[in-house]
Amino acid sequence: VRDITVNAYSSEHEEELVKVVKEIQDVRFIDVHDRTFNLHQGGKISIHSKIPVKGQDDLAMVYTPGVGRICMAIAADKSKAYDYTIKCNTIAVVTDGSAVLGLGNIGPEAAMPVMEGKAMLFKQFADLDAFPICLATQDVDEIVQTVKFLAPTFGGVNLEDISAPRCFEVEKRLREELDIPVFHDDQHGTAIVVVAAMLNALKVVNKPIEKVRIVMNGAGASGIAVARLLRKAGAANIQMCDSQGCISTDRPNLSPEKLEFASEKVGSLAETIKGADVFVGLSVAKALSPEMVRSMAEDRIVFAMANPTPEIQPELVENDVAVMATGRSDYANQINNVLAFPGIFRGALDARVKRISTEMNLAAAQAIASLVSSSELAPDFIIPSVFDPRVSKVVASAVQQVAYQQGLANS
Ligand code: NAP
Ligand code: MG
Repeated sequence: VRDITVNAYSSEHEEELVKVVKEIQDVRFIDVHDRTFNLHQGGKISIHSKIPVKGQDDLAMVYTPGVGRICMAIAADKSKAYDYTIKCNTIAVVTDGSAVLGLGNIGPEAAMPVMEGKAMLFKQFADLDAFPICLATQDVDEIVQTVKFLAPTFGGVNLEDISAPRCFEVEKRLREELDIPVFHDDQHGTAIVVVAAMLNALKVVNKPIEKVRIVMNGAGASGIAVARLLRKAGAANIQMCDSQGCISTDRPNLSPEKLEFASEKVGSLAETIKGADVFVGLSVAKALSPEMVRSMAEDRIVFAMANPTPEIQPELVENDVAVMATGRSDYANQINNVLAFPGIFRGALDARVKRISTEMNLAAAQAIASLVSSSELAPDFIIPSVFDPRVSKVVASAVQQVAYQQGLANS
């Protein structure tokens, strides 16, 4: 009899392996090790001191009495918190656990592994110290009030995985009421990266953004923000669909966000998409059929970004599209927010802006797009890799430049 340990990579994989192993004679099945679970043991981040405390002298400076003089300097001038505390480099990653990844309303504790992961990415890509704040409330007033109470500690607030339409109000109110930048990544991070990829995709097919007809599917947190930034980038003809088809002006009880993109058109996605140049999906798996893709204009661009299963599997329309992008790492042209948020906050904190403007987001998109040179640009290469070390640097410097141009910098 042999003992065996199984290394699983996913829950499906685990089930499959356990089944196979159990069928082998003379093998006693003991346990399954999942390398992903192993990696999360005890959490993924921790706090380290920058200065060792070796003796009384150090102690008297890092803590009382020396620290008291620092406190009084900040009490006399609050802005000194940026010079003498971690505020200058610290981000709160705030969620209420209501729309976590594609997993839905799973609550604040279950959201922690995602927020820890986000903190790791802030550190790795922009050397920012981010901390997960998972709130035990989904009430807009309570979220706003709590974040306001926490704000003195932080240089910026990254709102994360808060469901639409509450996310729009939470962000709007915090932007108005706080003097540090607030950025809902599921909205603006996505918008920046989609616009970056779109600028390059349009170069591939040689169509100007002002002239193309864009059909969007999904009018939630990400869809609305993407549509707004596409408009800012020059897109003039966008039709937006949701679960009920094209959002038309005559539909009753439209949210203000949907009303912004309501058009005269009425009909299903299949009807709306006919003859369109571009499809942008931020909706649900399999919402788009190969027939719908083939009904679009020549040299069509399809961004199918529902996660983890896109609106259409790329292999179904391989020969029918000019450019295809998804949210996935196993296909070409991955639209990944990590291209945007680390550099956005790096730039915002370095310029010490009180808010992140739409112009900064657009400049960030253009900066990301510019990293793909004209000789590299190809249908399967419209966006740089998330591991391209230039990305967060060019994004940060684009944000800073706009901050100075707009007079929003305070550094
Ligand atoms: P959300 O706020 O829940 O919005 C989802 C939108 O999809 C809603 O407007 C909803 O319509 C619409 N919808 C649902 N079923 C539909 C259907 N059958 N046909 C057309 N529209 C439908 O979600 P979100 O945060 O914006 O995210 C949407 C999707 O994009 C998710 O799969 C997410 O993982 C993905 N995403 C990917 C990236 C990336 O790849 N970088 C970034 C962000 C989001 P109603 O308004 O009528 O309910
Ligand atoms: Mg998110």
